[in-house]
Amino acid sequence: MVSSSDSTVQIARRGLMLVISSPSGAGKSTIARTLLDRDKNISLSVSVTTRARRQSEIDGIHYHFISKREFERLRETESLLEWAEVHGNFYGTPREPVETAMGEGRDMLFDIDWQGAEQLQDKMKADVVSIFILPPTMTELQSRLHRRAEDTEDVIQTRLLNSRSEIEHWRDYDYVILNDDLQAAFDAVEAIVKAERVRRDRRHGMFDFVRSLLQEEPSLPTHL
Ligand code: ADP
Ligand code: 5GP
Repeated sequence: MVSSSDSTVQIARRGLMLVISSPSGAGKSTIARTLLDRDKNISLSVSVTTRARRQSEIDGIHYHFISKREFERLRETESLLEWAEVHGNFYGTPREPVETAMGEGRDMLFDIDWQGAEQLQDKMKADVVSIFILPPTMTELQSRLHRRAEDTEDVIQTRLLNSRSEIEHWRDYDYVILNDDLQAAFDAVEAIVKAERVRRDRRHGMFDFVRSLLQEEPSLPTHL
């Protein structure tokens, strides 16, 4: 069971399901990567996808790249906690690693679209904390997609077209962050994680802690 420490005292708590969504190119993967590097108490939910692997991506680390037939098999056997078709490809969250992590009270990060966020919020409302990342302007979004230089022009155009309908879902999230300055956006995400970890309703270990706190008889000060 993961513990949150306010000082040296460890209090058991429930794991956090941190969902981050944004239109493609707004910077959610960059922010997610930084968080995963800096915070060893959170791990990434590695999705399955039927999309072709980008040059920079490693199978099993960024995604599990699978065929459409394999995806259908996972869907039919209820092995996916949520799934969606995004930009013409299928994506899904494998159920088993999430159930294991939650059972052990570990935090997980999900880089998924609004359809996936909606499904997780329906199924696991108490554990989900959702963040939507917005670009400062549509022009900057377009430049970021080009600067990333990992997709063909056709793919970039599809993503730009779809970005408007993704953005329309910003209201369904707990937090909304404008990713203009990357450091400021990251700091905001880090602050959210920090605050959500000490939420009262997540800290079931607090009952025992407060009970023993109240049973404690302070020893008399030595100068008396
Ligand atoms: P997403 O995961 O949302 O599709 P990425 O994280 O891949 O987006 O970011 C798209 C591109 O934008 C990357 O090249 C990334 O380095 C760049 N980027 C991310 N955040 C910023 C920012 N605040 N300012 C400038 N460039 C950024
Ligand atoms: P990309 O192809 O750029 O890696 O991802 C495209 C979109 O699919 C992004 O919005 C990303 O968050 C979303 N996505 C990635 N994995 C999943 C998943 O498992 N489920 C859902 N619903 N969306 C996903």
